[in-house]
Amino acid sequence: MLDKKILVTQSSMPPYEEYIEAIKPLWDSHWLTNMGVYHKELEKQLKEYLDVEELSLMVNGHMALELAIQAFEFPEGAEVITTPFTFVSTTHAIVRNHLQPVFCDVKLSDGTIDETKIEDLITEKTVAIVPVHVYGNVCNVEEIQRIADKYNLKVIYDSAHAFGVKYKGRGIGSFGDASIFSFHATKVFNTVEGGAVAFSDHKIYEKLYNLKNFGIRGEELVSDIGANAKMNEFCAIMGICNLKHLNTVLAGRKEIYDFYREEISEIDGIFLLDENVNATRNYAYFPVLIKEECGMSRDEVFERLRENNIFARKYFYPLTADQACFKNKYRGANIINAREMAQHILILPMYAELGIKVAGRIIKIIKQGVN
Ligand SMILES: *Cc1c(COP(=O)(O)O)cnc(C)c1O
Repeated sequence: MLDKKILVTQSSMPPYEEYIEAIKPLWDSHWLTNMGVYHKELEKQLKEYLDVEELSLMVNGHMALELAIQAFEFPEGAEVITTPFTFVSTTHAIVRNHLQPVFCDVKLSDGTIDETKIEDLITEKTVAIVPVHVYGNVCNVEEIQRIADKYNLKVIYDSAHAFGVKYKGRGIGSFGDASIFSFHATKVFNTVEGGAVAFSDHKIYEKLYNLKNFGIRGEELVSDIGANAKMNEFCAIMGICNLKHLNTVLAGRKEIYDFYREEISEIDGIFLLDENVNATRNYAYFPVLIKEECGMSRDEVFERLRENNIFARKYFYPLTADQACFKNKYRGANIINAREMAQHILILPMYAELGIKVAGRIIKIIKQGVN
């Protein structure tokens, strides 16, 4: 047994001295938040890195999604087609905007929304589609855009998992009307807590700037019912520092990823998800589908790893549609594939410092249990 607990991920951090040096100027300026110089600088750097036209930094990925949806001013009670195979934040953001999620099924091949099932769910109340690039797997952005254009719907991508992913040479955040990213401590790139909305229409920048600062327009004017979703300067500096080391982090992750892929593909009954050949990868997660034919259920593999101090995660089980707060409240398609995936999915530990040795140990523990 490993003496150290191995969690599904470990937050990337810059060298301590580098961060301490970088925050020193704050003791001179005393400007700690409210769109300071580092907020502006990180927005600029991320626009470039993500290859998007416009970007608005936020306090976290959830508020990025909530405010991105609010920015389009949909009528109360309108319907939004989305996926139940996601982190609960996606569904929360829709419902907290007084909109109704309509759950669409996903594809077993990669876990993204099944674009062939979207049109059947559209009614006169539908206003938007909120798909998720789950695990950084790119949705069928062309077909989703075709449907959105045909029915005059907005597309807002939950791109929380897809930081830095390019599809056909374009930044993933440049598709749809807006895309949100999460910079939470557990994501590929972090600002401790943080997030952003990417888009191309500059009018949305003004709107989001306003919404993330209580809707304050001028000293004596509040024009919108906004929230407080501003990223502070300490977090922005963390982002600037982490961005400098991102290539090293990605190289470390790729090594583990390639090793896992090779090892897992040798095991009968444990399956990898499809990789889109037109998309780059950010090695954010390592999802596998564990079928009983390997000799163990997903839960048995999960428990066996846990007994060995290895904490894999069942992302995403249960489906958001099945959570207590949403159960039986909203309509949707028969989400049969999503249920199947939720039952068999397991995310193996994956981060740059994990090391091939520990990854090898994880594979060995799995292999000892299978046929
Ligand atoms: C992490 C995540 C979010 C929320 O981001 P936070 O920064 O944690 O608020 C939203 N959607 C998905 C799919 C996520 O994984």
